[in-house]
Amino acid sequence: MPEHDIACAIIEGRVAAEVVLRTSEVIAFLDHRPVFKGHVLVCPIRHVDTLLDLPDELVLPLIGACRRLAAAMLPAVGAQGTFVAINNVVSQSVPHLHVHVVPRSKGDGLRGFFWPRTSYAEGEAAAYATLLREALNA
Ligand SMILES: [Zn+2]
Repeated sequence: MPEHDIACAIIEGRVAAEVVLRTSEVIAFLDHRPVFKGHVLVCPIRHVDTLLDLPDELVLPLIGACRRLAAAMLPAVGAQGTFVAINNVVSQSVPHLHVHVVPRSKGDGLRGFFWPRTSYAEGEAAAYATLLREALNA
């Protein structure tokens, strides 16, 4: 387990957290510095570094838990929708795979501040698409 792995610390009971869901495979707890109140982090109980390391048998439990939480947030905190996101390595503050499930409402001010958009030059989109297709088929 890497240092500063708050997820394993919470799973092992060494650090307190507001746990909202726990099964044999996944845990969900409140992010202590939420984007919006009710923001949870959903993690596999087994230590996994990033999405790329997630074993097949944990994909459905993890994403299923995210779906349950995204549904529960609507009545629980009066959200109109949710934002569900995974940072892998870059901007990943906790070195244990965690999915952010954030309640959203129209006019909540989250105008994609961490999604600065760019544009493709002429022909560039096709080149990027080709690179991705080739990597997927490698
Ligand atoms: Zn861990």
